[in-house]
Amino acid sequence: MASLFRSPHFTIERIHSGVWVAIARPDGHGLCNSGIVDLGGQTVVFDSMLTPEAGAALRTAARRATGRSPDWVVNSHWHGDHIWGNSALRAPHVVSTRTVRRVIERRSREQWRECRRVFPKELRELDREGSPVAAADRRRLRGWFEGVLAGPRVVPVVPPDVTFEERLVITGSRRSIELVSHGGGHSPSDVFAHLPDERTIFAGDLAMVGLHPSVGDGWPDRWIGILARMEELGADRVLPGHGPVGDRRTLAAVRGYLTDLVALASKAVRDGRSAAEAAGVPIPERYRDWQFSFMFGENVARAYRLARRSRRRSPR
Ligand SMILES: [Zn+2]
Repeated sequence: MASLFRSPHFTIERIHSGVWVAIARPDGHGLCNSGIVDLGGQTVVFDSMLTPEAGAALRTAARRATGRSPDWVVNSHWHGDHIWGNSALRAPHVVSTRTVRRVIERRSREQWRECRRVFPKELRELDREGSPVAAADRRRLRGWFEGVLAGPRVVPVVPPDVTFEERLVITGSRRSIELVSHGGGHSPSDVFAHLPDERTIFAGDLAMVGLHPSVGDGWPDRWIGILARMEELGADRVLPGHGPVGDRRTLAAVRGYLTDLVALASKAVRDGRSAAEAAGVPIPERYRDWQFSFMFGENVARAYRLARRSRRRSPR
């Protein structure tokens, strides 16, 4: 569906009749993927991307695809690259959990300001000779940094006005979308969307394809449990937060990664190694091709801190 809408920030793919995905271009200002669903008489956009600029393009794409402006925006979690496009989508309602709303209200403006403070330096570092960032990661990072720096000095933050705890179903004349939260795994509270008739899940950052997931703001052990429950839904299409559309193996692959991470960190704690030593373990062979490899050490460090904390609480 290349002719539907062209944007420098994403490419649109139709994955079912009435269901589209916007896959972020590595060098665009969208960074995260989004889903567009025609419920029949109502249009839902799942995640609004990194910038108001990308959010505005997403609004146009949703109108072209469904013939309607977005009626609902869903935020999978509080991280800026999934919510800073909210204002530009101009939907009557933004929906997520109460926790996501609370964290957005508390932290989102500051996160944007902090990004704008540190990104000029990070952008220079990226091109520095001997930069530790892998060549494959640079395009995506550059799009991220430049996107925020090209945006407004103060980002308009539109927090969810419709909130739920565990499950919310929005029903149109053609289909329903189920919004589900099993608590926090990748972040303090994560929401995914399930389209049962299409056997499709929009996972937000609970799933990645071809990239290291980010554990720094989450709890890998809880995340493993959330993925196991998601796998029970039997979806054969999974839209990850970042990377191309996945399939029935996607959720299990992320669960395997997190299981390996927890095992590595727990072993380091048992062996009496330091956090720095734990973070320095080599990336297992099967994840060597995944992008954002710089996250691996940070992920092990987070899992290590959590493992040490729980060991202190319950020695033996
Ligand atoms: Zn995230």
